Amino acid sequence: MKISRIDLHSVDLPYSGGVYRLSGGRTYESFEAAIVRITCDDGTVGWGESTPFGPTWIAAHAAGARAGIAEIAPSLLGRDPRQTERINDAMDAALLGHQHAKTALDVACWDAFGKSVGLPASELLGGSTGLAMPMISSIHAGDPEEMRARVADHRARGYRGHSVKIGALDREGGPALDAERITACLADRRPGEFFIVDANTGMIPETAMRMARLLPDGLDFVLEAPCATWRETKSLRRRFPYPIVVDELAQSDGDIAMIAAEDIADGIGLKVSKAGGLTPGRRHRDICRAAGLTVSVQDTVGSAIAFAAILQLGATVPEQLLRCVLNCQDMVTLKTAEVDAVFTDGGVRTTGAPGLGITVDEGVLGAPVMSWGD
Ligand SMILES: [Mg+2]
Repeated sequence: MKISRIDLHSVDLPYSGGVYRLSGGRTYESFEAAIVRITCDDGTVGWGESTPFGPTWIAAHAAGARAGIAEIAPSLLGRDPRQTERINDAMDAALLGHQHAKTALDVACWDAFGKSVGLPASELLGGSTGLAMPMISSIHAGDPEEMRARVADHRARGYRGHSVKIGALDREGGPALDAERITACLADRRPGEFFIVDANTGMIPETAMRMARLLPDGLDFVLEAPCATWRETKSLRRRFPYPIVVDELAQSDGDIAMIAAEDIADGIGLKVSKAGGLTPGRRHRDICRAAGLTVSVQDTVGSAIAFAAILQLGATVPEQLLRCVLNCQDMVTLKTAEVDAVFTDGGVRTTGAPGLGITVDEGVLGAPVMSWGD
């Protein structure tokens, strides 16, 4: 079984909530997806997606994803997609870094691998727990009461976890506004719900500590990605009274190993496109498992194809460590595929469908922007 053709599609994914607001004044209204289709000599097809969260979330952007895929794709022709580690070796030999570009190709190989043996990718990644995985909402930063209303709206739609965005600059309201946002969003908390408060690296230890002192006692949340650097995160870790999880900083195998070795955080956001696909994502999962770190399996954003990859990896994380999965297809208005999954009371479960368990709507992808092979 050899890869004989690779097609790259570029698709615009409008944000379903209007304008997405992040710390530091960053705003997003749509996202450019790089969607890859690999075709093998036996006719097997695999799909993968990489959709950066704009150009200002981590060092990744849509034009870079396309350029990276163009750099790598020729070296994958003629290779067996089922040798996922060797595929990644070949990608690393063709292009150093640029994990987000490698993601779409890696995930497409897992989809093809699963289809070729009639098994879901989750079975090839270690086996599904068979449990419903809790889904988390994404509550972008805004007025505290308006954010509280959006939490309530997602609660009514069955979400049991909420990712609340904070990180106000001092001129926007600073730590006092962020403390109000957290207090408002947790005000109607139901038993069994969990809250991740995500600063998306928009704080420094000083602002985070000021915020902590403005919060009422007894709030149950973890702080995600408070700071942009390891030094700041380590400094805050020694003093901050709530659990800390790392997202933007946790990109490579070495990052995850260092978090465990130096006790920098209590968990990570495992975003498939940030990690470089399901092959490195599997390693990150296993390091976290060995170290007792929680894992939120997500992606930066993305359509149904990215969501399907999240589900396949999320299904293999032991229940105690799996904080949530992100239903990223809910964040965009364009539906690129039908995902074979069971949605149940705020959770989602994979099925026995092979590969990623998706049926891609090729009509919405348009013609490929680049192709390699025959
Ligand atoms: Mg995050």
